[in-house]
Amino acid sequence: MSRPLFLFSIAMGLGALACTPRMQSHFASAEDMEKWQEPAATRSAGFGPCSDYLAYAPDTLHLDHTPMKYLRVNVHFMNASDSTRNFNFPEGIQKAQALINAANRDIETNKKLFLPIGNDIPALPLQYRLKLTPRPGDPDDTGVYFHYDDELYYYVMKGRNDNRSRRQVIDKYGIQLDTVLNIFVMPHHPDSVASPTYEPYGGGIALTNAVKITGWYENHSSEWSLNFILNHEIGHILTLTHTWAQNDGCDDTPLHPKCWNFSDTPPCDSLVSNNVMDYNAYQNAWSPCQIGRIQFALSREDLRCRKFLEPNWCELHEERTIFISDSIHWRAAKDLEGHLTIRPGGVLKISCRVSMPRNAAITVMPGGILILDGCRLHNACGDDWQGIVIQEAGKTKGRVVIAATPSIENVTHSIPIE
Ligand SMILES: [Zn+2]
Repeated sequence: MSRPLFLFSIAMGLGALACTPRMQSHFASAEDMEKWQEPAATRSAGFGPCSDYLAYAPDTLHLDHTPMKYLRVNVHFMNASDSTRNFNFPEGIQKAQALINAANRDIETNKKLFLPIGNDIPALPLQYRLKLTPRPGDPDDTGVYFHYDDELYYYVMKGRNDNRSRRQVIDKYGIQLDTVLNIFVMPHHPDSVASPTYEPYGGGIALTNAVKITGWYENHSSEWSLNFILNHEIGHILTLTHTWAQNDGCDDTPLHPKCWNFSDTPPCDSLVSNNVMDYNAYQNAWSPCQIGRIQFALSREDLRCRKFLEPNWCELHEERTIFISDSIHWRAAKDLEGHLTIRPGGVLKISCRVSMPRNAAITVMPGGILILDGCRLHNACGDDWQGIVIQEAGKTKGRVVIAATPSIENVTHSIPIE
């Protein structure tokens, strides 16, 4: 720590002292921008193009750098016209809430991965949750709906009447399909269930903006038999793929023999997966790369799944201000919900897209350094944010360094950058 900054820190710590340098602030201008002094070759080493999934995995030392995201969902119970094939109102409301809570419980308590055996891969927080979402402005809407339709209520997985990948039921009954992920709870067809060879087990399918799940009411199952199926299908919506037989783009999800559960004989005496994106009796573990891939997908402005998120990054939440006090490098796109402040001694390098909420500011305190590395700073909702504020106290001031030309958009106090 430099001497002036040290003195400044003491002064700050003691409160108002007569010798405290007066703090001054101004919005950054072209003169404030320092050019990076290191050779470009040094600088580019280790830089990814903002698509390294692991760079999107939440940093457990700075969890606030990955704000919690809420994925809006609603639930439809499909039923026969005689109302005997699925949950009805009002029981269905509680059932839907119980399912979402059970799915969130698994998301909250991400388990350590079984595979590879003996691994020390951490079980990271996922930083997203499901949120039952009614239509806005309708106090009677719970986000849970009941439909009675003898033609479309059932789910058939095989044979001539296989309808699981068909979209008719979604197109007819879907609600807020552009902004809410619709979950259809559909019973197996009674004719299928009547066959002695048919297993009406739990299953599901993801269809871009909706998920179908089956095997609940007709199996007298609890929400704890469906929650992992829902999380698996939502995993597909969030761009994850199965892991057992193919390269899923993640190095921490090894191929395996697809055992349902442990048995007495090899390979299923040991090589059992608990990954959510496999078929197994657990499906309650997400790997760091899978979590990063989910966060990556949710940060992509061109992907549909992002539209299912509550856009909590539009408006300013003062209490969600992020303070940078150590050396941090953001190689992932972020949608911040508060101000961003770089404290004395803090260094923040931004290499990807960062959205600042409306009227928010980035403040670089005296002795703090902000490095703009070809990043894009903007407001993802089309509003304005304030810009970059540089503070100075005595001879110490915040520094803004340009490593590669950034794009700074939607600012009230524009910053000309050559
Ligand atoms: Zn699947």
